[in-house]
Amino acid sequence: MTHPRTPERAARIAALRFDYPAQETEPVLRCNLCGGVRWTPLTRRDRYGFPAPTTLCEGCGLAVLNPRMTAAAYARFYASVYRPLVSAYHGRRIDARTIQAEQWSYAEKMARLLEPFVSEGLHRTFLDVGGSTGVVAAHFARRFGWRGTVIDPAPDEVAEARALGIESVEGFVETWNPGGRTFDVIGLFQTIDHLLDVRATLDKIHAILAPGGWFVMDIVDFRFVAHHNRSVEAATKIDHPYAFVEETAEAYLARAGFEPVRKARSADGHLVAYVCRPVAPRPDAMTPPGFAASFRREMESLFL
Ligand SMILES: [Zn+2]
Repeated sequence: MTHPRTPERAARIAALRFDYPAQETEPVLRCNLCGGVRWTPLTRRDRYGFPAPTTLCEGCGLAVLNPRMTAAAYARFYASVYRPLVSAYHGRRIDARTIQAEQWSYAEKMARLLEPFVSEGLHRTFLDVGGSTGVVAAHFARRFGWRGTVIDPAPDEVAEARALGIESVEGFVETWNPGGRTFDVIGLFQTIDHLLDVRATLDKIHAILAPGGWFVMDIVDFRFVAHHNRSVEAATKIDHPYAFVEETAEAYLARAGFEPVRKARSADGHLVAYVCRPVAPRPDAMTPPGFAASFRREMESLFL
């Protein structure tokens, strides 16, 4: 296993001249999952080598970048830095066009995950939150006949989605006014880790999901990536304000009123996907007793 910070990779990232310490940041004071205010430092840098610490909530074990960039700083980051940075990290060009090929194969995997739950006639509309270039919505339109809508804050990606004929909204779902519309199936694919307010997003999705509908989402499993690389730093990155594990994701789902009916892991291990039905929210749902302390010990054991 090569350590993620090889000299070649570090040189490619340095060539971007992204001055992370000069970006406007803010501390995370209150845990977005449990409301706790006590944080334990876990790492000092992220996988790119930027001085972006990750902390663990002592109440529930949620891992977040802390401090993190402000919403305005993130908007500038996604407009000009994000894709070049990911390209530099992987050593190949990744942009709105090249990601389409990967997204087609991803879309088919998600279609197979959802297929047993799809009722012809009952499910007709699909909203993809953070739907990027619309590939998943276009695939589901062909596969299931659903009318797709994408909401995404990135103008380049929304333009690609429009070119595929998908209804596209440029913006954030938390502040979007759908004008009373509801959706039969809502997806949050490869997006939840990028959000600034997970709780508000899940609450909004719950509010606009039609009765009898399905919510499907996935997380990058922070635990898996840390173990796989034998490095906690390698599992953190400035583009992921949140780093989820199954325990924290499932506590969030319960609090927002989603009950998983299917859970699946990607073949390479790093994604965990959930198909959920809407139920009554359980606002006090938590990670299992003792999880925060045991997860902290588990992550600290990887520093050897
Ligand atoms: Zn917490």
